[in-house]
Formats: sequence, structure tokens, C-alpha cells
Amino acid sequence: MKRFNIAVLPGDGIGTEVTQAAVEVLKVATAAHSEFALEYSEYPAGAGEFRRSGDDLPPATLAACREADAVLLGAMGLPAVRRPDGRELTPQIDLREILDLYGGLRPIKLYHQQDTPLKNHGPGDIDIMLVRENTEGLFAARKNGIFDHDKATDQLVLTRKGCERICRMAFEQARARRKKATLVDKANVLPSMVFFRRIFLEVAEQYPDVQAECVYVDAMALYLVQRPHTFDVIVTENMFGDILSDLLAGIVGGMGFAPSADIGDDCAVFQPSHGTAPDIAGKGIANPVATILSAAMMLKWLPDPDAQACGERIESAVAAALLDPLNRCADVRGPLTTLEMTERIIQCL
Ligand code: ATP
Repeated sequence: MKRFNIAVLPGDGIGTEVTQAAVEVLKVATAAHSEFALEYSEYPAGAGEFRRSGDDLPPATLAACREADAVLLGAMGLPAVRRPDGRELTPQIDLREILDLYGGLRPIKLYHQQDTPLKNHGPGDIDIMLVRENTEGLFAARKNGIFDHDKATDQLVLTRKGCERICRMAFEQARARRKKATLVDKANVLPSMVFFRRIFLEVAEQYPDVQAECVYVDAMALYLVQRPHTFDVIVTENMFGDILSDLLAGIVGGMGFAPSADIGDDCAVFQPSHGTAPDIAGKGIANPVATILSAAMMLKWLPDPDAQACGERIESAVAAALLDPLNRCADVRGPLTTLEMTERIIQCL
């Protein structure tokens, strides 16, 4: 029997609640398979750990993430726990940089017409894979941006290596989907984006079977509201990806429906796109769907066909549960608690 070690980092706020829900679903789903097994080990990280030990990403946690077959993460950071310069703790972003998890895969799918604020859109109309560059761009300035009384500077850096590998990942995703890749940039204004577009079009030549197009980020914000059904894979810079992934979540029901995977060449971390949601933490009402779908992405990423099939079963169970409009948590005015929603998904397995 194949065994995979999963490092579980619940983190802060609703991170602990949704991680528990996802592990519960994983345990039930994998119990039906005798060909592989998951072994879970929990590690501390986040704002709570910073308060406790003075370190938001302890060396033992980092080492465990490197050694694990995959990492399942909840959410980290709390508004009240900050560094002396005012920034919140973001060990999940540190992890992406340290482990070189350059590919942020953020699938967005509409499961039921009632979840979208858009008119005339039903299931099947919104099915987009956002590929966010995770290690460069404007976010890379967060540790060396400078400001004084009169001036502040954050530098946006893109490298050829970084652009090539994220574009290749996007084209590979598109090839396995509906064969369309859209670069989102601001090449009409910023030289860094002219550079990015040039490399995207170079990589596109290696994928003649995939339709390649480029859209400016401001226009994309409009198009994602007006005609999301026309997009398949979207690839973009770190900060643009951060913003557009929330917009995308908004058109399918909110952050509780938005899973993600941060993929590198050696490691991968799976987590919901949302944060710790301190406004609802501890109430037991967080929507666990995003984390359960992230856990399914984790299984599909493992190098084992049985694990991959199990990931697909979880995705189908989520889709089946969401067919019933009453199977919803408070984020979309549903009646269920985190625990109840998790049970409904388990029943559909
Ligand atoms: P971060 O910057 O860490 O991504 P954020 O400040 O963008 O976090 P979130 O923590 O993602 O904020 O929360 C944004 C809003 O969405 C909050 O009102 C929160 O309650 C809600 N929210 C986020 N995730 C969920 C969830 N799983 N279930 C229900 N509501 C959620």
C-alpha cells in the first residue's frame, strides 16, 4: 500500500475549523481505498503561534513541509497581531517563497445558479482556472519596500525564468481543459508587463493547439463580470492574481467556494483562497467547501492514480451536495453549520 505524509497546518481563525472539516472528508473518502493511505501530522504556524513562541513559521514546521508529500493549510494571520512596522503576519506567503511554490492554481466554478450575483449564468457557464504567479511581482517588494515621511516605493520585479515557468504552467492547464489561455497584464503602461507579454507570446508558440490572448487588467475586471463564460485559463502577475481571485470568488458565491493550490517543482501546499475571517471565527459557521475542494486538488496532485480518482470523487460529492440549495452555510444565507455542511458532503461520497 502506498502511503503519503500530509503535513496539516490549521493556522488561525476559521483555518482550524475548515481544516478539521477537510481532514474529516479525506478520512472518509480514503477509507474506501485499500491501495493508498494518507498519514496526517499537525504543525503549528500563524499568528497564534507567533504569540506563543515568537515565530509564525517555526523551523520544525518548515522542515515538515519540505519533507511531506503534500501540505494542507487552513488560513493564517490575525488583524490584531502585527509586526512592528504594521504589517500582518503572512507565513503562508513566506512558505510560497521559501518552497518556491510559483504556481498559484485557483479554480473557480459555479455550482448553482443561486450562488452567483450575475444574471443569466448557471452551472457550466463559469469554469475558470486562474494561474497566479506566486513568487515575484509586486508582492516580492513586501520585505524591501521603502518608505519615509515623504515617499514610499514598492518595486515590481518579474524575471524571464519566473514568467516562462508560470506561462508554461498556464498553457499546460489550458491544454488539459478548453484550450484557451488569457494573459492579464498592463502592457499599455508598465515596461514590466511588456516584458511579461513578450514572454507569454513566446511560450504560446510552443502550444499551437491552445488559443492565446492578452487582456489588460482593468478590462479583465469588467469582462469577468460581463462575460466570464468566455474565459478558460487566466494567467497573471502576483498582485493582479490576488485581486482577481477575490473577484472571481465573488461571482460564484464568495471566498467559501474558492479552493487553491500553490505548486512548485518539489512541494505543494493546498489551502482555501480565503483568509482567517476573524469576524466569524469560533462560531462554527465557516463554509468548508473551499478547503474540502483544496483537499481534493491535493489528492489529484499526488502521483498515484487511486489517490487522483479519490480526489475526483470528493469533487463530485461537493457538486452533488451543492445541487440542493439548502446545503449552504451562512456566507450565502444558508442554514448549515460547518459541521453540518461537511456531513452533507460526506453523505454524497
Ligand atoms: P486575507 O487577506 O488573509 O486573504 P481577507 O482580509 O481577504 O483575508 P477573508 O478572511 O478571506 O479576508 O474574509 C473576507 C470575508 O469573507 C469576511 O467577511 C469573511 O467572514 C468571509 N469569509 C471568508 N472565508 C469564508 C468562509 N470559508 N466561510 C464564510 N465566510 C468566509
